[in-house]
Amino acid sequence: MSLKTYFSFSALLVIFLLETIFPHFKGRKNRVPHGAYNICLSLLNSLLFAFFFSVVTLNVMQWSLNRHIGLIYHFSLPEPLELIIVFIMFDMWMYFWHRINHRVSLFWLFHRVHHTDREMDVTTANRFHPIEIMFSSLIRLPVFVFIGMSAAQFVLYEIVLILVIQIHHSNIALPEKVDRIFRVLLVTPSMHRVHHSVEWSETNSNFASIFSFWDRIWRTFRYRKNTLTIRYGLKILQEKKWQNLMGMLLTPFKNFSFKIYVLK
Ligand SMILES: [Zn+2]
Ligand SMILES: [Zn+2]
Repeated sequence: MSLKTYFSFSALLVIFLLETIFPHFKGRKNRVPHGAYNICLSLLNSLLFAFFFSVVTLNVMQWSLNRHIGLIYHFSLPEPLELIIVFIMFDMWMYFWHRINHRVSLFWLFHRVHHTDREMDVTTANRFHPIEIMFSSLIRLPVFVFIGMSAAQFVLYEIVLILVIQIHHSNIALPEKVDRIFRVLLVTPSMHRVHHSVEWSETNSNFASIFSFWDRIWRTFRYRKNTLTIRYGLKILQEKKWQNLMGMLLTPFKNFSFKIYVLK
């Protein structure tokens, strides 16, 4: 197991424990089977793609490094500043990629798996369809080249991302005062809960991954005072059969069409 996997799983266990002690939505049953399905999907993704895409990504980064292709190579900046700029640029890509997943019907069919979870918790941060992982891993390759992101910078980005997304998907009852301070810069649970609402206007808001300012800059930020009244999931695909491993894998193929069109 890689260092990233250890870190991810340890963080997941700690956050799962915190959700148990300080739950936002109380009285949930079946937390263990619910979480187990999401983790199984994530393990399947790792088995299918982790090795292949790590090798491809490393090669692409090495290729761009050898040729000094990439925006960042045009400036000789001190390393910490370079890291901050690369972080911000890649996080902006993540924001737009997420919006694309909500706008282009073909991508949305797969991204729906992340949104059909009716009891979002820390494990939902790992709930993505393998084809969505494949799309995102392929489409971001030219982004690495464009920015000039190094493997070390990407590993650091992923570690921060894992921590932030696991926290903002969690069912931890974070006091509003604390959430408000953190969401000045970072995506917090109260922000991401709105993104998982069944209300379509709310689903299409708060797209950011790490930095919350993208939603403010591009006017997709949405605040909801009482997140306890949010219902998670989608208005369709509510049946229990879409919640197990097979159901999640088959979700995109319900109403599947190769036709690409932009959603309203
Ligand atoms: Zn989404
Ligand atoms: Zn989410």
